[in-house]
Amino acid sequence: MLKSVNPATGRIVETFETHSDKGVEKIVNATDKSWQQWRTTSFTQRSTLMHHISTLLRSRKEELARLMALEMGKVLKEGVSEIEKCAWVCEYYAQYAESFLENEFIETEARRSFVSYQPLGTILAVMPWNFPFWQVFRFLAPTLMAGNTAVLKHASNVPGCAMAIEELFREAGFPENVFRTLLIGSKQVENVLRHTAIKGVSLTGSTPAGRSVAAIAGSELKKCVLELGGSDPYLILKDADLGKAAKICASGRLLNAGQSCIGAKRFIVVKEVYTEFLEYFAQEMNQAVFGDPCDSETTMGPLARKDLRKELHQQVVNSVKMGAGIVLGGEIPNRKGAFYPPTILENVKPGMPACDEELFGPVASVIRVKDEAEAIKVANDTEFGLGAAIFTRDLKKGEHIAEIQLDAGCCFVNDFVKSDPRLPFGGIKTSGFGRELSTHGIKEFMNVKTVVVK
Ligand code: NAP
Repeated sequence: MLKSVNPATGRIVETFETHSDKGVEKIVNATDKSWQQWRTTSFTQRSTLMHHISTLLRSRKEELARLMALEMGKVLKEGVSEIEKCAWVCEYYAQYAESFLENEFIETEARRSFVSYQPLGTILAVMPWNFPFWQVFRFLAPTLMAGNTAVLKHASNVPGCAMAIEELFREAGFPENVFRTLLIGSKQVENVLRHTAIKGVSLTGSTPAGRSVAAIAGSELKKCVLELGGSDPYLILKDADLGKAAKICASGRLLNAGQSCIGAKRFIVVKEVYTEFLEYFAQEMNQAVFGDPCDSETTMGPLARKDLRKELHQQVVNSVKMGAGIVLGGEIPNRKGAFYPPTILENVKPGMPACDEELFGPVASVIRVKDEAEAIKVANDTEFGLGAAIFTRDLKKGEHIAEIQLDAGCCFVNDFVKSDPRLPFGGIKTSGFGRELSTHGIKEFMNVKTVVVK
């Protein structure tokens, strides 16, 4: 049984029967069978269906945002933007998939030689709860447009979103079993991944989940794409526009109540501007209005689950025990629901959870450094490598640091890190491997086939 629990109230929203192993087997076989048909459809046919689904998404955005608010606490305004972004990624791949996957002709001694991109079959998606629609659509739009079919194992706390996605595909007119949701717990993932019909897996989630799924995929020699955790550094250099930087940093930290893989997490500030930046930053963080995610005044909802809040608070408490100072927040509010206030920790040092681990909530770790060189060293001194940002008025220098000196998959200058259908997205080190989105994402689950005609 999977349960949706409203994190703002602790009340059960709905319960869902899980699929049995037999039920899973039936669904996977069905998606495999429908792949034989789906792979032969034209880009124009697939593209028409993708446009149908984007229209449905846009027309249902309020309703779907409410579902996310109820299941995982996302504020309505952010939920609506998430659904609009899903519609965008569907339109994007509907328009460009064909050109991204065109044959590439290469001159050799043969009459004709070229590279052709062929779909692999049914791909398994294991997805997290924090962007319950976006994470799934950014995988599905390219995967289905490329001619693969897919099954989804969504996070256990968002079964309502998982079923809503399946229903959207049905209503949009996709053929039966091109996409199916599996209502299963994480223990059943291994069996699904070992099924011969499953040809690859894309997991977005924590680093431990990634390690475990990658080990199974490795033992089966199946391709995997891993989008895992992060502890993104934000470098504040001495020539930064501090007021603007503080605003952007606070937004980057508080989006989705801080529960984003590419959330701004470590703020590395050079000593000359440390005090001034911290003052601006605390002001900005303090402006968050936290409360009922369905209330239009609210800018920050609860965390998605109480156990996640407990874990986050323990990381804060342990960091404080090791010498970090609390500038803002840091205490569990005396109210119902999994709320956690915007929190700033300073004097954060290596060895503390606030420095070494991912803080998945509205807690900012501020680190003081003597100069730009030390800022870059501290930024890179982490097991993660997902995103990073630099704030400076010297755009040339910012670009150089972003391109060459920071060890991360996505580096932004004077903005917080965001995903965009047009740009590749993914990490290095323990933040994962492989890329989603853009022309790179659609080629991950393809047979890059060489054809030579003598
Ligand atoms: P999670 O606990 O790792 O869960 C993610 C998904 O993996 C869920 O469907 C979960 O199922 C499943 N899962 C967990 N352990 C597994 C295992 N051993 N074998 C197979 N499946 C397993 O992560 P989360 O709490 O949902 O999401 C937060 C994490 O995701 C953060 O670390 C965040 O940084 C990361 N994330 C990364 C990106 C990115 O693009 N890089 C984007 C968003 C989030 P159950 O729910 O049933 O446990």
